[in-house]
Amino acid sequence: MRNIQPTTRRGFLKSVTYVLGAALSTTTLSSYATDVAYPKPENVISPEDALQRLMEGNGRYVANTPQPSTYASTRAALVTGQNPYACILGCSDSRVNPDLCFDAGRGDLFVARVAGNFVTPEILASLEYGTAVLQSPLIVVLGHNSCGAIKASIKAVKNDEDFPGHIQLLASSLAPAIDAAIKKDPKNVEDTAVRENVRINVEALKNSTPILRRLVQSKKILVVGGVYDLNTGRVDLVTPT
Ligand SMILES: [Zn+2]
Repeated sequence: MRNIQPTTRRGFLKSVTYVLGAALSTTTLSSYATDVAYPKPENVISPEDALQRLMEGNGRYVANTPQPSTYASTRAALVTGQNPYACILGCSDSRVNPDLCFDAGRGDLFVARVAGNFVTPEILASLEYGTAVLQSPLIVVLGHNSCGAIKASIKAVKNDEDFPGHIQLLASSLAPAIDAAIKKDPKNVEDTAVRENVRINVEALKNSTPILRRLVQSKKILVVGGVYDLNTGRVDLVTPT
C-alpha cells in the first residue's frame, strides 16, 4: 500500500485547502472545527446513532419506501456550510450510489469514491476533512459484490497480468486483499476479497493517521465496513477479524 501518512501538517492543510477550497491555511483544525455552524441540526448525532440512521436509510432503500423529499428543500440552508452525519469511502461503480442506497438527503453524506474503495492520500485527506473539520461522527468503507476492480486485481494476481495505463494501479492497490482472500478461502476468492478489502481499509483508516486515530481513540468517530449487495440493495456490516 502506498504511504498514506501526510508528510507535514502544513502540507496536509495545503492539500485539504486545495481539494476543498476551505480557508484553512492559518487556522488549526481544532479551532476551525469549533467555528462550524450546523445547517442541519438533525445531523449532530453520536457515532452509534449515525450508524443506526444510515442502516435505517438502507432499509428504506431495500424496501423501496424512500423518504419524501424535494430537490429544493435544503438548498438554501446548505449554501453557507455543511455538516454531513456520515462519511463514505465507496467504489466508483455506477450501480452503487451511497446517497441512494442509504436514502440520504443533500448535506447528509460526505462521499469519497475510487474504483475498488481503497485509501489513497487524497481519499485520506478528504476523510480527515470530513471528520476533523466537518465533524462527521462516522466513516463507512463500502464495498460491493461483483466489483470490477476486485475482479481485475484477482486476474492480475493469479495470472501475473498487467493492465494498460493507470488501471494497473487499481489492481496493485487491491493485491493485499486478494492475497488475504486466497489464503482464507481459496474456493471463494472474489467475495472474500471484497470483505478483506473492506477490513484492510477500515484498519488503515483507524490506525494509519494521527488525526483519525485520535478521533477513534477518543470515541468521537466510528470507522466501520459494509458490503452492498447488487441483487437486493442491502448493506451488511463487515465484522473485524
Ligand atoms: Zn467496485
